[in-house]
Amino acid sequence: MSLDPKDWKAFRKTAHTMLDVSLDRMQSSREGRVWTPVTDELAKSIREPLPKAPSDYEDITAALEEIIPYAPGNIHPRFFGWVNGAGTPSNILAEMAGAAMNVNAGSRNHVAPHIEQQVIRWMAEVMGMPKETSGLVVTGTSMATIVALKAARDFHQKKHEETNPDACLVGYTSEQAHSCIGRAFDLLGICKENLRKIKCNENFEMDLDALKAQMEEDRAFCHIPFAIIGSAGTVNTGAIDDLEGIADICEAEDLWFHVDGAFGATAILSEQAKDRLSALSRVDSLGFDFHKWWQVNYDAGCVLIRDPLIHRQAFARRPEYLRGKERGLAGGKFWAVDYGPELSRGFRALKVWTHIKTHGVDAIKEVVERNISQAQYLESLVKASSKLEMLAPVSLNICCFRYKFESGADHKNNDIVVQLQESGIAAPSTTTINNTLAIRVNITNHRTQQADLDLLVGAVIEIGDSL
Ligand SMILES: *Cc1c(COP(=O)(O)O)cnc(C)c1O
Repeated sequence: MSLDPKDWKAFRKTAHTMLDVSLDRMQSSREGRVWTPVTDELAKSIREPLPKAPSDYEDITAALEEIIPYAPGNIHPRFFGWVNGAGTPSNILAEMAGAAMNVNAGSRNHVAPHIEQQVIRWMAEVMGMPKETSGLVVTGTSMATIVALKAARDFHQKKHEETNPDACLVGYTSEQAHSCIGRAFDLLGICKENLRKIKCNENFEMDLDALKAQMEEDRAFCHIPFAIIGSAGTVNTGAIDDLEGIADICEAEDLWFHVDGAFGATAILSEQAKDRLSALSRVDSLGFDFHKWWQVNYDAGCVLIRDPLIHRQAFARRPEYLRGKERGLAGGKFWAVDYGPELSRGFRALKVWTHIKTHGVDAIKEVVERNISQAQYLESLVKASSKLEMLAPVSLNICCFRYKFESGADHKNNDIVVQLQESGIAAPSTTTINNTLAIRVNITNHRTQQADLDLLVGAVIEIGDSL
């Protein structure tokens, strides 16, 4: 017996109900709490014995409806923690179509590679990279970084193979860079210690003199510098490294220039930040997310690699049973398996393509510009209050500040954040800036309004006063 519905008419009704439930959730994203912790009852009810028999569709919709409220809350306009996108209802359309197609986008001759490659062409255009730029729609920037640095490592290893087979490759990034870079080094066997964390200036941007000094020292020890990884928007403060400066060094020293632009690269769409991101046109590779500032629903990220041949050489090793053909289903020029570590993979590009067509890049530009202005507005509120102080300059869309206490400030500011989260009012996160705990507000949310920031600051002061 197949797993298809026995009664399609009844299933259709269930599916329509579920669609309504899902749309209701999104339409009411502003209502109610931001984060709702999972109750003990719910956690307990999830730990049921392995189901052997089927359930009724009504029971399944009821179970889905029951879990929907217990999400992290990032579709809410006052979710300010870490860096999360808010998603859109229009994604639900693409997800439905995608589920119905049930495509394996890793290989072969069908529509998915055409859509995915179109997304890559659009993104190369947005970032100012050449038309031939290669790339994939991946899970997120963590995966994008692994794919990009694999290409970088292989290319440079090969270059030094004959003259210096045992040489140790070293890469460089700033001490504010994201942990996914160290992870990629680890996974690629370059070894985490060979990622040098360069100190930053007072704006949390990589200190390029320190970078050059470190490279000189490494060369003196016969290490081989191979890549510099710049940050376009650090997760702590939104700082953008001097990317033109890094590009110059990479060019002069023949190094791979990778940029982690997880959320910040999207700001190339904005008038405020595009000049600081002009060097994205010079990268060898770039990783960024659609599920952050682009507002595509989780998960979707992107890797772009300037040289398609270097990209392909890092991954294309197909066994006999995956040989391509001139014609038929095993035809098709682009097989994603030749450009990344996965064979079977979902059709993520469909929701990205649909998202961009639905809204157009001008709408994303508007969101990005508004969020940047909102971070500046929040800074002005902090500066206007005698009870609050800024802990880092606002570079992009992130504002780090704290309530001023006579003593125990770190502990009490942490308490403020936890109380805000647990009360359901708002969900900022914390970070450490120069050894001081900061209330960290990241705004990558198309639903956030100025009044949400007024409300946040009012609540911070109220809780702070009570501690
Ligand atoms: C989120 C983030 C990452 C990791 O991206 P994922 O999509 O979560 O894998 C890397 N770098 C920065 C700056 C980020 O904000």
